Amino acid sequence: MANALTIAKFGGTSVANYEVMQNCARIVASNSATRIVVVSASAGVTNHLVNLAHSPLTQEQIESTCQSIVDIELAILNKLADKSSVESKLNDLLDEVKSLAFHEEILHRNDLKDQLLSMGERMSSLMFSAVLAEQEVATMNFDVRKVLRTDSEFGEAVPQVDTIEALAKQLMAPEIENAIVVTQGFVGADDEGRTTTLGRGGSDFTAALIAEALDADACEIWTDVIGVYTTDPRITAAARPLPELSFEEAAEMATFGAKVLHPATMEPALRKNIKVFVGSSKEPEKGGTWIVRDCVEEPPYRAITRRKDQVMVTVKTPKMMYAQGFLQQVFAIIAKHKLSVDLVTTSEISVSFTLDNPANSVAQRLNKETIAELETICDVKVENGYDLVTVVGNHMQTAIGVSSKIFAAVSDFNLRMICFGANPHNLSFLVNETDSDKIVKDLHKALFE
Ligand code: ADP
Ligand code: ASP
Ligand code: MG
Repeated sequence: MANALTIAKFGGTSVANYEVMQNCARIVASNSATRIVVVSASAGVTNHLVNLAHSPLTQEQIESTCQSIVDIELAILNKLADKSSVESKLNDLLDEVKSLAFHEEILHRNDLKDQLLSMGERMSSLMFSAVLAEQEVATMNFDVRKVLRTDSEFGEAVPQVDTIEALAKQLMAPEIENAIVVTQGFVGADDEGRTTTLGRGGSDFTAALIAEALDADACEIWTDVIGVYTTDPRITAAARPLPELSFEEAAEMATFGAKVLHPATMEPALRKNIKVFVGSSKEPEKGGTWIVRDCVEEPPYRAITRRKDQVMVTVKTPKMMYAQGFLQQVFAIIAKHKLSVDLVTTSEISVSFTLDNPANSVAQRLNKETIAELETICDVKVENGYDLVTVVGNHMQTAIGVSSKIFAAVSDFNLRMICFGANPHNLSFLVNETDSDKIVKDLHKALFE
């Protein structure tokens, strides 16, 4: 049997500076199975790059944003015992950042935006391989664009799994025989070799895709919390880490707002049954969460998630009564404008549905044109200011009393839409954004404390 293979991914706060990179390097060096490391950009860098790529800035603002990035990178460089091997490469990358940031077309060309966004990971992987080399292990910095083939949807590129597998086996596998390969999360390339990105938080997804491509035994997600918690520990201090979670539960949690995992992370893991570990790079000794196919326990309630910035659309027409094909027409228009629908509820003459709206992305697509098109067949109402709260668990539609316990805990609040029963792992409802903190806290108390 081939040697065991682990892919370790370190998030932005884990590679924010030289000192925390050293923690990560120790984690890598302590496990001989870890032959591939996927890194995010150092904390803050991608936000700066997004700002440069998307906001109309003055020359001074561009200068000062670039300088903030330079400061983060040079602080790492200057702590290296021997910086000579990476200094000129880092300077080349910083020059590339500046030239893209000042490019006349940066605000108008999606390919340039992605090229700029990729720079954070390209720099952090270079710096991390230098820090790892200080642990006396052989390392190499590998350009992930050689293997991570995607389509050309810049900003939200879709990976081509079969091609990635073939390329990783051909180009990456031989390298891990001789060195620990350090590569970039979040970044890919299309058929024409143009740089793409997988969407915010996409480095988790990269790690899982590489684990799948190389039939790894485990994929470790090292972050700033000691595992996946019963709910976001930033919402309530009563949240506690979960020792284990099933692929399905983790996928539901990630989809419905648990930022600790990018929503697509579990897809590759599930396809190849690769166990996923989530732990803290600052406190690796505290253990973490193992996400596996078969859990020891399947409790009805495992966790609560919240997804902010939901948009609710209600379409209404008296003609809908007894009408055939109305929903089909509505959803065809929605699909044409690349909006994806989450929750749906229907009554006799109206249909409400929610759209996920990260960073106001819906506003661009649910524009006047989309609404005008819908208005040719119905009345349309668009409402903002909602959050989606989801309880994740098991056998939820069949276990007696599960929903009544949940609804009893939130009986003081106005729930705008409820979605239950479409799958055994979740119960979701839409609430006013001003209520969602309190709702999550109350629910957590009722279900877990
Ligand atoms: P990284 O930069 O390492 O990818 P992220 O910020 O993307 O880290 O994800 C970690 C954060 O996810 C945590 O700090 C925490 O606030 C948030 N989070 C949300 N829901 C959960 C949850 N259920 N369990 C743990 N962390 C969660
Ligand atoms: N650096 C990217 C981001 O901040 C990807 C990641 O961290 O996973 O979104
Ligand atoms: Mg993340």
